[in-house]
Amino acid sequence: MQNNMQHKLITWYQENHRHFPWRENENPYNIWISEIMLQQTTTEAVIPYFKRFMETFDTIDKLANASLEEVYKLWEGLGYYRRAKHIHETAQIIVEKYHGEFPNTYEDILALKGIGPYTAGAICSIAYHQSTPAIDGNVLRIISRVYLLKDNIALNKTQKKITDIVKELLIGYDSSAFNQGLMDLGATICRPINPQCDICPIQSHCLAYAKNQQKVLPINIKNIKHQEIHYTTGIITYQNQILLIQNPAGLLENLYGFIQYDIESPYRFVEEFEKQFHIPLSIVAHIDDLKHVFTHRTWYMHVYHFIINVPIEHLYTLDEIEKLPLSTAHLKVLKAYLKSREF
Ligand code: SF4
Repeated sequence: MQNNMQHKLITWYQENHRHFPWRENENPYNIWISEIMLQQTTTEAVIPYFKRFMETFDTIDKLANASLEEVYKLWEGLGYYRRAKHIHETAQIIVEKYHGEFPNTYEDILALKGIGPYTAGAICSIAYHQSTPAIDGNVLRIISRVYLLKDNIALNKTQKKITDIVKELLIGYDSSAFNQGLMDLGATICRPINPQCDICPIQSHCLAYAKNQQKVLPINIKNIKHQEIHYTTGIITYQNQILLIQNPAGLLENLYGFIQYDIESPYRFVEEFEKQFHIPLSIVAHIDDLKHVFTHRTWYMHVYHFIINVPIEHLYTLDEIEKLPLSTAHLKVLKAYLKSREF
């Protein structure tokens, strides 16, 4: 009987793996959509979105033929909307270039929009059992601990080193079970804080455990500048309609939202608005001060209610707004406004 780390991890995975809807079959389409949704989002949060998405678009053809707005609507609340745009574009490429069949080589998959080495590796190993590593934060942490690597895992050269280690480990083993075993081990036992070494299936192979360094490793020091922006955000109403604009580009491209300027006064907001739209605007009330955190930036939104007395383009009733994809940040703004009207 084999007694090495790979064998123990795979056996543990086969007996204890978590059950998710995207694990019910090995269809590359399912695996692709789930992996994209799981970027930056927890498994619990993804499950209902994944189910809804696959019920609506059960084939790549249906997804490719849908409008971008339909895709955004199903994505609403998941955040990082660029992912949805890439999924839509990629579905169209797959229909045009691969006749609707998901490509099956690592290089072809990696060339698709929004798919990086981790996702390409996950699809190739899980759907096609190809010997490709799928290196994410879980794998970096586990390998760093098992091999007692004291290098900073935020650096490319450390990630390359870990990728090479995993490539070696995969030789001769089922890459699907091994990669998913690492994913599950990282999510449930070898967690970032307080790893559960007592019940770890690969404890006897772990050098960090042997040297009592499991609570120190991995070294993960990111040198990312985080930007903070203060906005005055305007709920601008005309009778029972609200003004929303569709973001042309940038972080929240194509999503609808309220007009906001990076200034810290509602009076300056009025000046900016009047300069841009050439109609008078009146301030009604301060609604709330809200914060929304993105990966590399934080928005502080100082929300005010304004009114206009002449109709302009882009006014929507609440029923119409329900059908539009709004950014998560501006859904918070809308909720705060609706709450303020209850008093
Ligand atoms: S023994 Fe502890 S630190 Fe090592 S892999 Fe297992 S859970 Fe992680």
